[in-house]
Amino acid sequence: MKHREKVFTALCAFFILLSVLLLPAAVVCAGDSVEKDTSPQVAQYFENAKKNEAELVAFLHKMPKGADLHNHPWGAVYTETLLDSAIAQNLVFDCTAKAFVKETTNPCYTAQELKQSNSKMGEALSALSLRNQPKEKENGHDHFFDSFGRFAAAVPSEEDLLREQVGRAISQKIRYLELMTEPPREEEAIRTWLQQMEAARRETISQAGGAWNVDVAYIVPINRNALPDSLQSGPWNQEVYEEFFTQEVRQALTSIVRFSDQGIRSLTFLDPEDSWISRTQFTAQMRILDREWRRLVAENPANADKLKVNLHAGELTLAYSPYEPMRNRISQSIALGHASRIGHGLSIQWEDDVYGLLRQMRDHKTAVEICLTSNDGILNVAGGDKHPFRLYWNADVPVTLCTDDEGISRSNLTMEYARAAQWFGLSYGHLKWLAFSSLEYSYLPGESLFINGDFNRLKTSPPQGSVKAALEQQLREDFQRFEDDMVKNIRLMKRR
Ligand SMILES: [Zn+2]
Repeated sequence: MKHREKVFTALCAFFILLSVLLLPAAVVCAGDSVEKDTSPQVAQYFENAKKNEAELVAFLHKMPKGADLHNHPWGAVYTETLLDSAIAQNLVFDCTAKAFVKETTNPCYTAQELKQSNSKMGEALSALSLRNQPKEKENGHDHFFDSFGRFAAAVPSEEDLLREQVGRAISQKIRYLELMTEPPREEEAIRTWLQQMEAARRETISQAGGAWNVDVAYIVPINRNALPDSLQSGPWNQEVYEEFFTQEVRQALTSIVRFSDQGIRSLTFLDPEDSWISRTQFTAQMRILDREWRRLVAENPANADKLKVNLHAGELTLAYSPYEPMRNRISQSIALGHASRIGHGLSIQWEDDVYGLLRQMRDHKTAVEICLTSNDGILNVAGGDKHPFRLYWNADVPVTLCTDDEGISRSNLTMEYARAAQWFGLSYGHLKWLAFSSLEYSYLPGESLFINGDFNRLKTSPPQGSVKAALEQQLREDFQRFEDDMVKNIRLMKRR
């Protein structure tokens, strides 16, 4: 540990001690470490394991991780699954468009050819993901966003996507997923869809032996770049655009009000923030979201608790955005967009009132969904010396680690924890803190098990009937079992 970190840790420990002794409700360090009931032996072993990626991954793969709160099922599906689906549907891979299509007059490979040739299959898989991405030669941002259109024809059913996600969560010890999946629009169709998804979830858990449960909730995505037909190629009409976007937002918010108890819990805006529409219409989009949110709360004040919003905000760098939008993307998403969580937040350092914003996010517990692999692959923000993680962490703004699009990025939640440990030198106690944060700042209903977001301080009587508190207690037990097992495994790994 570097000298400055030692001093920081010592200061945090001192203030925690002070707050425990003198000020029970005092502000605690959000970027902190879970010490309560943590095995010092396991924490010590982790410090050694951190020096080698294979040892680190072996440790983290089965470490309990709580939740993944920022996950797009379309981007989470691995390209090999898309290939299987393309073969089953007899699609062809268009070598000019680099896309799966039903038929084409361009040169192409048939599904049979892809099955039988490693090099042809490799060409298709690389076009549809960031697999073997040659960073020095190509632009990860464009490759990433283009991938969705290229594989759209091969995407399996939403139930199949969910099966892949839940299966992966079980084996990586994740308890809860918030998936950005658009439900149908009609009320009856939403009800049927929720039942089908629930059946797929249960079936996957039972096929895996039934010992590990994974809960799932949904976040309704709105495409920031979506346009009504009349504006696709015709002249721009602001009135027509705003009418269209209002309908999109109204539809999503109404679904949340109606179905939040059954798992549709939040709204997000998708797609690149640097696109022309997103850049020029950002203020209009925020104004519409604000107006529609307030309208539903005025109709029924109880809606305020249901209408959660988490927005992709500040997924920008100077390479992809002019300077001006980065001055207020995150602050406006909170002030006007009602965002209680921020996706990425990469451009925070360019905010006009960066320290005021950090203070506000700390005080209101506005969490940031940090997606390290995605930031590296899409925007080339790689390494602890470039990423703004420490701005948030050191200011005690809550953060959680998320996958974003693990299939296209060729990653998973285990690797997000590995990268966080490697890039920012985090300890085992810090990673435990991040795992608890993922449940604490989720949209799970009910009160927390902990006092004021401090995962070293349990409430004297656990909240009754709280789903969130129940999962947090479950995570405490998961860690207890993991550490008991690791103590045995450490003997095997003893250095000689
Ligand atoms: Zn995202």
